[in-house]
Amino acid sequence: MRPPLLHRRCPEVVGSLPFLRLGKAPTPVQPLPGLGTRAELWIKDESGYGDGGWGGNKVRKLEWLLPEARRRGARTILTVGGLGTNWGLAAARYAREMGLGVALGLIDHPVDEHVRAQLVRLRASGARLHFLHSKTRLILAAPWLFARHSHGRTLPYYLPAGGSSPLGTLGAVEIALELGAQVEAGELPEPTWLVTAVGSGGTAAGLALGLRLAGLRTRVLGVVVNDTLKLDPASLLGLARRSAALLRARGADLNGAEPALDTIRTETAWLGNGYAHPTRAGDHALTRASTQAGLTLEHTYTAKALAALLDLDATGRLDGGPVVFLQTHGPR
Ligand SMILES: *Cc1c(COP(=O)(O)O)cnc(C)c1O
Repeated sequence: MRPPLLHRRCPEVVGSLPFLRLGKAPTPVQPLPGLGTRAELWIKDESGYGDGGWGGNKVRKLEWLLPEARRRGARTILTVGGLGTNWGLAAARYAREMGLGVALGLIDHPVDEHVRAQLVRLRASGARLHFLHSKTRLILAAPWLFARHSHGRTLPYYLPAGGSSPLGTLGAVEIALELGAQVEAGELPEPTWLVTAVGSGGTAAGLALGLRLAGLRTRVLGVVVNDTLKLDPASLLGLARRSAALLRARGADLNGAEPALDTIRTETAWLGNGYAHPTRAGDHALTRASTQAGLTLEHTYTAKALAALLDLDATGRLDGGPVVFLQTHGPR
């Protein structure tokens, strides 16, 4: 197993923060000239990350979360998401391989073909599904869910939406450390911006922390695709700081390498009517990515993130670049 770069950067945490490699690292970086952007555009491609190439960015979080569930002696992971949750599906699939069950509280959002297909996969995944429809009903049902999925006195290991706990956030720290090593090796120039979709925040927060740990000046441009959580720069920075605090609590010496507020920028103008609501700009970016760059995107996250990148580029708001687009979507 290839150890995580975080264990090399912070050797003090090796014993107390166990890691389980689930994919092939590092994920590739490539130039992406086909879209004709003004700024030099690169892609860091997470789409093949995972067992047998099955995954996406949620697998990176599970590499830290699953060993922790085992360390705690948990039998079940209890977590939440929307009907088409990539997170819930990835958790169900990888937890099962470790003999852990997954229980999911699901809330409603628009259902398209992709979400319908996700639901079929979720039903087949072995996860126990609870259709609670709204956030309010989910919160009201929480005590019942905990009781229902306890084994004797062992409570389920609860994880927030998207796996974006301070520990899960280390998954994106690792992506940023990889990018740092790739810059250092001369595979790509130091980017001005690293662009990602922001669904539950762990990815953007972890990237911001990881870029500082890697010693890069690159900033995170987070395209917000979810209106049901607080995902402004201060909230994302708060999560990044809680991850840094977790590392320090386990003995890591971060040398003062903490992200500052100006290292995270969020854009909310590409959200449209809300989480999982397709937008015209997103549809357009999805088609362009496919025809001009051979890139497969989906409507909820990556299409909106690329739409924002292309619009900001066209109006000269990316500080000249180079810019890296994080391809977070994995095959399903
Ligand atoms: C979950 C997800 C994201 C966003 O990651 P968060 O850590 O939840 O913000 C981006 N792209 C895809 C395809 C995802 O499934």
